[in-house]
Amino acid sequence: MFESLRAVPADPILNLSVLYRQDTNPNKVDLGVGVYKDEKGHTAIMEAVSRAQERILFEENTKAYVGIAGSKQFCDLLAQVTLGADHNVLADKRVAVAQTPGGSGALRVLAEFINVAKPGATVWVGNPTWANHIPIMQSAGLKIKQFPYYDRASKEVDFDGMLATLTADTQAGDVVLLHGCCHNPSGADLTLEQWQTTAELVKAKGLLPFVDIAYQGLGEGMDEDAAGLRLMANLVPEMVIASSCSKNFGLYRERTGAAMIISSNPEHAILTQSQMNGVIRANYSMPPSHGALAAETILADPKLKQMWRDELKTMRKRIKDLRSQLVDAIKAEGIEQDFSFIERQKGMFSFLGISAEQVDQLVNKHSVYLVSSSRINLAGLNQHNIAYVAKSIAAVL
Ligand code: PMP
Repeated sequence: MFESLRAVPADPILNLSVLYRQDTNPNKVDLGVGVYKDEKGHTAIMEAVSRAQERILFEENTKAYVGIAGSKQFCDLLAQVTLGADHNVLADKRVAVAQTPGGSGALRVLAEFINVAKPGATVWVGNPTWANHIPIMQSAGLKIKQFPYYDRASKEVDFDGMLATLTADTQAGDVVLLHGCCHNPSGADLTLEQWQTTAELVKAKGLLPFVDIAYQGLGEGMDEDAAGLRLMANLVPEMVIASSCSKNFGLYRERTGAAMIISSNPEHAILTQSQMNGVIRANYSMPPSHGALAAETILADPKLKQMWRDELKTMRKRIKDLRSQLVDAIKAEGIEQDFSFIERQKGMFSFLGISAEQVDQLVNKHSVYLVSSSRINLAGLNQHNIAYVAKSIAAVL
């Protein structure tokens, strides 16, 4: 049975990590994989998470299943974090929530849920988008189409192109996948005015907005980063949201996230919860507990919550500072090409906007590792390597 199988192409980002580890150049820099790193280049456990884990170690008294939709308290608290505690869709009991294995698990559950509601529905994704969006949606049976998103010339969102395509080419019942904040890979986010315009279009055309929020708190702030999706939720009757705790709680390997479905009324919310639970039951049956229990412990305790918010603020500020410092360091190399867009973009990623050949030289000649699209993870920079990275970029331009 297996002889007809061909190997799946290696993930280019994960492949880059292998090459990085094998590189013996003492100046090597990893700007590839999308995890947050501190000044020492370490992806540390957040202090609030360590405290929560200590508490769990003492207080947890069972390893019985958590239930198909996970912990009710986690679901309630994460919905409040994402939507804002006072959002009318929560007050109106229009939201169904399930704890999922990471944001990826939420994306898959929601994609399968959509495929139950409308088999073979079309999902519009931006060009470019997070590479894994496409296989996740397709594996669930959905069709993919693309709208223009990032303009490589202006280094801004191609909002006119996006609107034109979504206006002309979508049909009622199509799904539009949007990044809540800190767009991966471009770092270019919609402004609030653009969210408003998109929400009006989505409503007028009867589209279903699908918002993936994986970096809440790493752009401008917990509330600021979710303002666009909250506005959208105010305006449209139905919407789905995949929320990840991987980055903002640093819980990557614990696989923690939530899938949220907003319906037009509370009766439909009960229905959608049961359908979502059906999808989960037939897939992995129940989510893992530990990461969600840690996140819930933090969110339910005012002191731990404040500690977590402060740590997240430090991370956010570090990324912002690195953005400005990289722009300055490139300028200091005498480069006239304008890189100031890096300062305007949000979250961990930006495209340098250089060619694949130039990326190749950065990797192979200078041991500065980044993806061939020229996406860099800003958090891989630090005070020891930033001048070296700027010098290397200058050398390949
Ligand atoms: N969405 C986007 C845009 C992402 O970048 C990521 C992680 N790279 C995810 C979702 C999923 O994250 P996780 O499954 O690790 O929570």
